Amino acid sequence: MSEHPIITSIHSVSASNYSALPIVLSKGKGAWVWDDQGNKYLDFMSAYSAVSHGHCHPRIVQALTKQANKLCVPSRAFHSDNLHIFLGELCTLANLDKAIPMNTGAEAVETAIKAARKWGYEVKGIPENQAEIIVAANNFHGRTSTIISFSTDEVSKKNFGPFMPGFKIIPFGDAKALADAITPNTCAVLFEPIQGEAGIIIPPNGWLTEVSSICKSNNVLFILDEIQSGLGRTGKLFAYMHEDVQPDGLILGKSLGGGVFPVSVFISRNEVMDLFTPGSHGSTFGGNSLAAAVGLEALAVLKGEHLVERSADLGDYLIEKLKNIQSSLIKEVRGRGLWIGIDIDTNQTSGRALCLKLLELGVLTKETHNKTIRIAPPLVITPEEIDWALEKIAIVMQNGKIRKR
Ligand SMILES: *Cc1c(COP(=O)(O)O)cnc(C)c1O
Repeated sequence: MSEHPIITSIHSVSASNYSALPIVLSKGKGAWVWDDQGNKYLDFMSAYSAVSHGHCHPRIVQALTKQANKLCVPSRAFHSDNLHIFLGELCTLANLDKAIPMNTGAEAVETAIKAARKWGYEVKGIPENQAEIIVAANNFHGRTSTIISFSTDEVSKKNFGPFMPGFKIIPFGDAKALADAITPNTCAVLFEPIQGEAGIIIPPNGWLTEVSSICKSNNVLFILDEIQSGLGRTGKLFAYMHEDVQPDGLILGKSLGGGVFPVSVFISRNEVMDLFTPGSHGSTFGGNSLAAAVGLEALAVLKGEHLVERSADLGDYLIEKLKNIQSSLIKEVRGRGLWIGIDIDTNQTSGRALCLKLLELGVLTKETHNKTIRIAPPLVITPEEIDWALEKIAIVMQNGKIRKR
């Protein structure tokens, strides 16, 4: 089959930093997307959680267009009339004091790193330029040169050095390794509560509680990156709520933008946030009026449509049904809420091969590290839509004949 002319064109003008599946999308609605030929697909990836609210959610699109006709980008050089409402809502939900609005996830992670270091020097009294942040192996926190400095993924680092010092890497989910790694110069830990890009890796029960108490007794900030896990993805508002802990800092992004717009924040306590002074940090677009309106509506829809509860209930249902599929290709199914990883037997097939077969049957998803198929549908998905997809997944996993549509 010859390549789609649009795909050929994309390859000729776009850097090849993604290996996209061979499909050209042109429309989305709820849990569904359409290609430019009019074929319909169920989105089982939700743009890595950015589209948790579903595609083109009418209320969010309406909030967007309404604000777009009023005021979009005033800049933080002036005050605007809706940022306080948006950030206030976030602080209440996270049980924290103040937020810094940014745009993309990586920027919010950078903000957290800067805040943690500043707190380390100005509050904890760490000697200048000695602050250390402890992170986990196989982490994913974004793509800036500082953030890739503490990645353990060779592809994302190769020939992008020199790298930023000041990070210590320990195994994910290992409380003892954390206790051992802390020094008087440790200002913070920075973890994903469940590792997303690594393959939906769930840490041992009680780990977050141990991390929290180790941080407390060593005067270290407990910071969580919930850019992908937050806002209902795991069946709780935030993934840390599966345990009885309260982080000192929380990073959000992706679904905070309601599937239409990049919106991110770093939220923390006054003790940390009050160290920022005019000029010490900023972003031209961060906290713009359009972003505040969209973010606020995204939070309202989350609540109004009970998306967190839906994620918990439908997630339990989907995980159980996936576990019931009899297939030698499946090694493990694990997940929390509507966030599921299916580990496959790479001796028999590849993640990409299975994703290509699923695509032919109308289910869109993407493998991670070739051995895990990621299942993360929009939280607005219905049980009937889940059943529809389960049928296709069962066909693919049971090596059934794939009929062309
Ligand atoms: C996607 C992601 C990021 C980076 O967000 P961008 O918006 O792509 O910069 C950071 N951390 C986690 C956990 C993510 O999943």
